[in-house]
Amino acid sequence: AGILNFCANNYLGLSSHPEVIRAAAEALEKFGAGLSSVRFICGTQSIHKDLEEKIARFHQREDAILYASCFDANAGIFEALLTPEDAVLSDELNHASIIDGIRLCKANKYRYKHMDMQDLEAKLQDAQKHRLRLVATDGAFSMDGDIAPLREICQLAQKYDALVFIDECHATGFLGPNGRGTDELLGVMDKVTIINSTLGKALGGAAGGYTTGPKPLIDLLRQRSRPYLFSNSLPPAVVGCASKALDLLLESNAIAQSMAAKTQRFRSKMTAAGFTISGKDHPICPVMLGDARLAAVMAEDMLNRGIYVIGFSYPVVPKGKARIRVQISAVHSDEDIDRCVEAFIEVGRKHGALP
Ligand code: PLP
Repeated sequence: AGILNFCANNYLGLSSHPEVIRAAAEALEKFGAGLSSVRFICGTQSIHKDLEEKIARFHQREDAILYASCFDANAGIFEALLTPEDAVLSDELNHASIIDGIRLCKANKYRYKHMDMQDLEAKLQDAQKHRLRLVATDGAFSMDGDIAPLREICQLAQKYDALVFIDECHATGFLGPNGRGTDELLGVMDKVTIINSTLGKALGGAAGGYTTGPKPLIDLLRQRSRPYLFSNSLPPAVVGCASKALDLLLESNAIAQSMAAKTQRFRSKMTAAGFTISGKDHPICPVMLGDARLAAVMAEDMLNRGIYVIGFSYPVVPKGKARIRVQISAVHSDEDIDRCVEAFIEVGRKHGALP
């Protein structure tokens, strides 16, 4: 009782929103428990088509395709799109699913240093010899809460004739004035070609992923993307949930906006207390502690004070960079945030993380 969750990807609180829950129950009742089929056999219902249309509209793209997860969307895209004559340039800290997706394709692989534009430019120059170039980056990086320099990436992509792909799992629904994501936040919605994202975090938190972008690309994925072709359709309740979450976000930007104010409150109070918070303006707020044991005992003690957070250490993050990753949600009240900060101050003093 009374435990506050500060470690979920439930950025907008929509996974417990009554309208989202009701929409899932209605879809279950009306469309059944599941389709017992992949999409192209008998696994497509009107709700799947409607959700794809809604996702495309939300991101202001031509079309969208659903997957069972964003891990699948990332696993399916590179192999379907790129040939051995092409090149993919990937940030070294990209999510594991992007790394795995790239492993599955036969394109020439370049790994550029994390958010290092000089290194990306050098690699783009080298990649000029290939037929097509695709720059792949997380929009927001989940371990550090930092945001990819998409403006600069898009400028380089333009200069060296490359396409830009972003994984928006930690951005969709809440970054940018209308929650459209990193591309909206940084004013490059018309310059990013492909977006992959999840329905399992801010958009209702159930499950599912998607690719959205130009129609010919989506058509190609429907023909060639293996996780789409060979895996079951999303169950109706999951579709109902995501669809309602998108309706709420398309109606108003109020939820996305409230998220930003709460993040600011946590970051500024923690910094004033003497903690180092990695990243900037993102609801992922890693409290940097360095020592793995310190992160673990502090997280345990936070739970004793009713705050649920988790310590991250090697191999999830580099050695010597252990941290407690706090995630802010729109459902946290100002009082909840203050309670979390106070607990951090007490626990930090007790364990010597603060003077
Ligand atoms: N990409 C990023 C950046 C993620 O953080 C995650 C989830 O942890 C995924 C992809 C995979 O998303 P899903 O849970 O929908 O498979």
